[in-house]
This record gives sequence, C-alpha cells and structure tokens, in this order.
Amino acid sequence: MSENLTLTIAQPDDWHVHFRQGAIMAQVVPHTAARFARAMVMPNLSPPIVTVAQARNYRAEIMATLPADAKFNPLMSLYLTDHTTRQQVTEAAAAQHIVGYKLYPAASTTNSARGVTRVSNIMPVLEGMAEHRLVLQVHAEVSDPEVDIFDREAVFIEQILAPLHREIPDLKIIVEHVTTAQGVQFVQQTGDQVAATITAHHLMFNRNEMFRGGLRPHAYCLPVLKRESHRLALRKAAASGSRAFFAGTDSAPHTRQSKQRDYGCAGIYSAHAAMELYVEVFESMQALEKLEGFASHHGADFYGLARNAGKLTLQKKPWRAPPSYRFGRQHEIIPLCAGQPIAWSIAGRDC
Ligand SMILES: [Zn+2]
Repeated sequence: MSENLTLTIAQPDDWHVHFRQGAIMAQVVPHTAARFARAMVMPNLSPPIVTVAQARNYRAEIMATLPADAKFNPLMSLYLTDHTTRQQVTEAAAAQHIVGYKLYPAASTTNSARGVTRVSNIMPVLEGMAEHRLVLQVHAEVSDPEVDIFDREAVFIEQILAPLHREIPDLKIIVEHVTTAQGVQFVQQTGDQVAATITAHHLMFNRNEMFRGGLRPHAYCLPVLKRESHRLALRKAAASGSRAFFAGTDSAPHTRQSKQRDYGCAGIYSAHAAMELYVEVFESMQALEKLEGFASHHGADFYGLARNAGKLTLQKKPWRAPPSYRFGRQHEIIPLCAGQPIAWSIAGRDC
C-alpha cells in the first residue's frame, strides 16, 4: 500500500557531524555528502581546530575526499579553549565557511581535554562572538565525575547555560544534541537566540538500547541515551514544527576496535542512513509534513544562511544497512542499525 510513497523536501543540512581525519574521514564524508547539501563539521580533532588556518586546511582535506564536482559545502566550527582571544574571534567572523565556535567543557567527551575549564574565563570572547553574530555551539554537559551521567545535561543548563544566556542575551546558542526534557524546556522558554539540534538516534532509542540482550558498545554515545520520558520530549519538540529545533546527526565514527574494548569510545555512526532514519522517525510520529522544516529550513534560518535551492526525494523502499563498513586494511565501522532493514531510501537529488 505504501511502497510507492515518496517525499520531496528542500535539500537538508546536517548541523552537527564528526568527520575525523585520514582514512576514516575518506570513508565517512561521502555518506554525508550524498544526503546533505551542507554539514556543520565539528572541530574536536587531536589536536583540535582552533585557528582559521587550521579550519581552512581541514575543509580542503574534507573536499579532497569527494569528486571535484561534488555539490557539498562543509561549514566549519572552531574549538573554544581557555586561551581563545577576541582577535581570533574577529578573524573567524571574517572567514568564509566559519560560522560558529564549539564549546566543550573540558574532559566532557571525545578529544575535549583542551576544552574550556570555566565559562567565566572566556566571557570577553563570548561577547565578541555575540557582536559578530557567530553561533556558540555547546556540548551541554558538566564534566564533573561526581554528577550522575544521566543528569549532566540538566545540571549544565541550570548552572552554566541559563546564567550565560541571561548574561549575554544576544549570543546565539545551540544546545547541541539535546537529550533531555529539561534541555527542550530551556530552548522553548528562551527567545529566538537559543536553539537545539536533535540526533536521529536520540529520537529512536532510550537508554535500554545500551543493555538490550547484553552490553552494546555501539549504542554508547555522549550525551548518553536517556530514559523514555526524555525521548518522548525530544520527539514532541521535533514534531512540533518549532523553528528552534533542527537536525544534527552527531554521526561520530569510531573503529570497531576502539569501541569494543575496555574504555570504549563514545559515538554512534549514522551518516550512512541519516535522512532515511529521520524520515522513519517523523513517519512514526505522523508528522512527515514537519520533516522539511526540521531537516532543511530551521537550521539555515537560525544561522542566518540561505535555505538550499535543491531538492531531495526520499522513497518508502526498504534496504538493509550493511553489518559494517570496512576501510583500510583492517578497520571497520559498525553503523547504526547494522544489518537491519531501513524503511526509507534516497530516491533522487536535484541540486
Ligand atoms: Zn558531537
């Protein structure tokens, strides 16, 4: 009955993605570029991307993984440290393709050791960002090991983000990969200077997924999956049509070896099926008409960028995600829904 169902939307953008570097980057960039017109590339490499020159080189490396005529525009973010200067902010604001700064509280997630130790250390820099209309992209979790891991987002919002917003109300802030009802509520209650990205996996799964039939390292990400009531709050926000919520996959590739070991890495790889999974989620919420705003309009509007002119057509035609993506001699990435059927496919693109 529904096998020929198609949905055409303006070309979507992924407002939060990790490409890493080297061989793994060459493996993952084409997946994102096949679905999205633009992607907001996270700067948490080792060492992190802190200068305009580093971002320019990194962007060139990303483009070099694609055919020369590829229509894909990576947008770059710089990594905030305790030592970022106002002068650097001014340079970043003038640079093509740089649209934001990423705030990682020190030691909160992958390659965040050089992150900001106290937001009060960087207030002049944040004021400079507000002046230049650069967006602050926040990994909104405290890194205090005493705080329960499931509460770290709510605590960060209450103790750090809400006061920061009151202090610099003109600063555009994105709560990246929001995962809690408290995060959703914070975004809804503040004005149009605050928004949030939402991943496909936080819309699809609650924390039980990490323990379904045994410990599942490939369902471990940060911020960690939360209880069902939070997932339902995220789904309601995404399906509400509110311009404050938009797609950001947080697709974060790690090799199987680096996830399946003592101290396995956090991160879920979803770029291989990102739009297919978002459309499945919106269909399950009976909100297909809200997908285009969420995936293609709200993020561009928040960043003050033009919406994409091209179109993407999705079709309700099942395919099976591979059990892994192999690259290099001995590496593989285990993707989200590995070996499982996915209900929707990409049917065409008109750029
Ligand atoms: Zn991320």
